[in-house]
Amino acid sequence: MTSDSAMRTFLDGRVTVIVGDITKQDVEAIVNAANSSLLGGGGVDGAIHRAGGPAILEECREIRRTRFPQGLPTGEAVVTTGGNLQALYVIHTVGPIYGEHRGEEAELLANCYHNSLTLAVEKNVTSVAFPSIATGVYGYPRAEAADISSRTIENFLSTDRQLKEVRLVFFQAQDAEIFLENQKFSE
Ligand code: ADP
Repeated sequence: MTSDSAMRTFLDGRVTVIVGDITKQDVEAIVNAANSSLLGGGGVDGAIHRAGGPAILEECREIRRTRFPQGLPTGEAVVTTGGNLQALYVIHTVGPIYGEHRGEEAELLANCYHNSLTLAVEKNVTSVAFPSIATGVYGYPRAEAADISSRTIENFLSTDRQLKEVRLVFFQAQDAEIFLENQKFSE
């Protein structure tokens, strides 16, 4: 259980915005802002591996070995167990490093959200929590990321009937405020 409560909801309650720790969310899947190595890093990636335990890293190594020996490309997503987390699954996606993709950052960030939601549906979950992909060390401006993530999620949910909750988890209240000021949800 989590004591965080929704600051705001959108799309008839299918999208919730909260301030909290992604590793503590009582949802069926959480998304990890991974790096292409899939072997762990700092920020939210480190927090998820610390809280979830070694089973997640073990599966990531296997995914690297069997499917992505060169690393997971930016914008793509893969799924592992949730290990010791409450979540059953961790969906690992690699955000764009802002300024390093020749103007394709927005499309790549949208791909992160779209591909993660597609995997969540494939895994039959009804609830998924996202951190704010790429807005930490990858430097994506929070206002622009809010625009892209909200549009992509709304577009996905407009044709999906399975997902009951997409939870957007911000580590700090100020980050959630920037999201709320810049999101483009239609309601
Ligand atoms: P990236 O490399 O994709 O930028 P980071 O982990 O550096 O990933 O940051 C992504 C976002 O996750 C940032 O907005 C950061 O504030 C947030 N964050 C860091 N730790 C947590 C956590 N435990 N729960 C939720 N969000 C977190």
